Amino acid sequence: MKAKADIEERIRDAARAIAGARWLTAFSGAGISVESGIPPFRGENGVWEKYDPEILDLDFFRAHPERSWPAIREMFTSFLGTEGRTPVRPNRAHEVLAQWEKEGLLQCVITQNIDGLHAAAGNRKLVEFHGHCRTMTCLDCGRQIPLNGETVRDAVPRCSCGGLFKPDFVFFGEGIPPHAMEEAERAAARTDCMVLVGTSGVVYPAAAMPVLAKRNGATIIEVNPVPSDYTGRITDIFLPMKAGEAFARLAEAVAAESAGD
Ligand SMILES: [Zn+2]
Repeated sequence: MKAKADIEERIRDAARAIAGARWLTAFSGAGISVESGIPPFRGENGVWEKYDPEILDLDFFRAHPERSWPAIREMFTSFLGTEGRTPVRPNRAHEVLAQWEKEGLLQCVITQNIDGLHAAAGNRKLVEFHGHCRTMTCLDCGRQIPLNGETVRDAVPRCSCGGLFKPDFVFFGEGIPPHAMEEAERAAARTDCMVLVGTSGVVYPAAAMPVLAKRNGATIIEVNPVPSDYTGRITDIFLPMKAGEAFARLAEAVAAESAGD
């Protein structure tokens, strides 16, 4: 019973920090999308147990697109709902973050995910740090086309100029989009409360954003089923829970806090 009371207290503390923040941000990773049915890349049952990460290396993709493309297609068409699969949908955690933005409570979401679920839930103040799956860009002439059932086919997608189309998420060996880096750093410098969700803090440079926020004095709330690299280091309030349950309870507690002012 003590543990349960402890969690209740942590939820209340987190809700108080969220409701009282002047500039609230969220920082998300693969763990927020697991409950939407998207497998994480790392760890048990992760994508990298099935595929060699080499297929998403930019140089490898340029040199051997015919070897990368079938795997890329298999991995990412499930996001798109093409080929008869049901598209993935935002879960409760994404929905709460979208609701908080709508209410003016949340100023920015920085996500490491490329699944587009924050955008699908309705967040607009969104930094997609590792890009997204909505479009592809020609590596030679820069022409951009949608990434959908029409453009994702068996053959490697080629531009009319002869160049190779690459999906607009960040490959290994590729830099972070400069605008995403700038916006994320600006948000991390400005925020006074950051909610980390479903991220273990091992993928750099993204993983540095919460550290930057902490250094600038932000309260760090962490939602992860198990402790991460952040937990003992920068986290102020740790909620050892899955994202969906944690955000359902936070939404209720934040609403109660806001009503209580
Ligand atoms: Zn082209």
